[in-house]
Amino acid sequence: MSEEKFDAIVIGAGPAGSAASYVLAKAGLNVVLLERGEYPGAKNVMGGVFYRSALDKLIPEFWKEAPLERHIIEQRLWILDNDSAFKVGYGSEKFSKEPYNCFTVLRAKFDQWFAKKAEDAGAFLIAETLAEDLIFDGNKVIGVKTGREDGDLYADVVIIADGVNSTIAKKAKFREDLKTKNVALAVKEIISLPKEKIEDRFNLQGNEGVTIEIVGKSTDGMIGTGFLYTNKDSISIGVGALLSDFAKNNKSPNDLIEAFKSHPAVKPLLAGGETKEYMAHLIPEGGYDVIPKLYGDGWLIAGDAGMLVNSVHREGSNLAITSGRLAAETVLKAKEKADFTSNSLSLYRQLLEQSFILKDLKKYRKIPELFEKNSHFFKLYPEFINEASLEFFTIDGTSKQEKLKKIIKLFREKISISRALKDAWQFFYAFMLSR
Ligand code: FAD
Repeated sequence: MSEEKFDAIVIGAGPAGSAASYVLAKAGLNVVLLERGEYPGAKNVMGGVFYRSALDKLIPEFWKEAPLERHIIEQRLWILDNDSAFKVGYGSEKFSKEPYNCFTVLRAKFDQWFAKKAEDAGAFLIAETLAEDLIFDGNKVIGVKTGREDGDLYADVVIIADGVNSTIAKKAKFREDLKTKNVALAVKEIISLPKEKIEDRFNLQGNEGVTIEIVGKSTDGMIGTGFLYTNKDSISIGVGALLSDFAKNNKSPNDLIEAFKSHPAVKPLLAGGETKEYMAHLIPEGGYDVIPKLYGDGWLIAGDAGMLVNSVHREGSNLAITSGRLAAETVLKAKEKADFTSNSLSLYRQLLEQSFILKDLKKYRKIPELFEKNSHFFKLYPEFINEASLEFFTIDGTSKQEKLKKIIKLFREKISISRALKDAWQFFYAFMLSR
């Protein structure tokens, strides 16, 4: 490997790392992008909803060339009980037209394409190469030790974008070990189905797609969600819950996804399909209060490595791309001043504060605690909504007044008025008032 000094080394060719490398290389910097996988995306997992706006800023109209699955025209929410589902959703003609709102993607294809864009812009991608540790001169990061023979690389600055586990940031003590209450464990399958079947079953045409977010029985009452997204000729289905909840309830992720796939609302949508891939991955869900320091002398952290995920809105890839871009823009400014000290790189935090990333995460900083203290949101309310719906929609000669009384009684027994008032206030405070 070359002994030359680079302007920047980026660790990890996920959305954050490829975005950072693309911006740096495009500006003419000498940048190396390290990826441990056989190719970018080889091991990467995401449910698969990819939002347009973050990448559109870097590569305008990327959807005309990127390997995307379907553009999403409708987003649905299902609340499951044992054998029933309460369903709502929103679809719009506006989502059927360019520039589109969001797409489904398969990361193995998408990440390769994005990293290739960074390469085409001039970045030097080295795949199958594990970044093992940072190289320091005192407190200052001056390079990366890789798993290759003679594999020490040197640079003015290192962008750490190695994902949720970030062994690099942990080894350097830039970040603490993950706490089980701050990460979700998700399992996902890609199930192949003919294109026509998908279009028939989900009422779609051409490249249109839908997303379904599913709470309640999908996680067996644990804090988390299930999802089902349409791809071109496959379905992405998965379920995730807080790692602490899996431990507390002694549940296995595999049992959970098997039960989820067999639910009467889900099973017919998958009928005749064949599982092509099975994967598991962590998602940072601790929110604003667990974000570590994101810069220092000669280093920056972007994407999941910095815990930058908005799980309430299922947004991660767009935060990764935006933080990667902002990290790169900070490096470009530092390069102009030839100053890569912590003081100079603190601009990154300012840019993040001005962007939707820290504004949104700050706004929702109370949500992780709200859910942790009120796990019944994921059990009692889904059960009540389904049982009340069964009563309401069953026409059996009972008068409407009687039905209403039964539903109120059910509500009192299951949730209670005082608890509901307390929940409503806490919910309102966490979502609307907190900032
Ligand atoms: P990653 O995508 O994890 O990329 C990190 C890269 O670094 C990988 O390529 C990895 O191989 C490489 N790497 C790691 N360590 C090293 C090392 N030491 N040396 C070299 N390379 C290394 N987000 C959404 O926007 N929409 C969704 O629908 C969505 N659904 C999700 C569903 C699931 C099940 C999961 C797990 C996540 C989901 N997310 C979603 C979140 C999203 O996937 C992440 O926020 C996003 O991928 C973060 O990008 P990243 O580049 O920071 O990290």
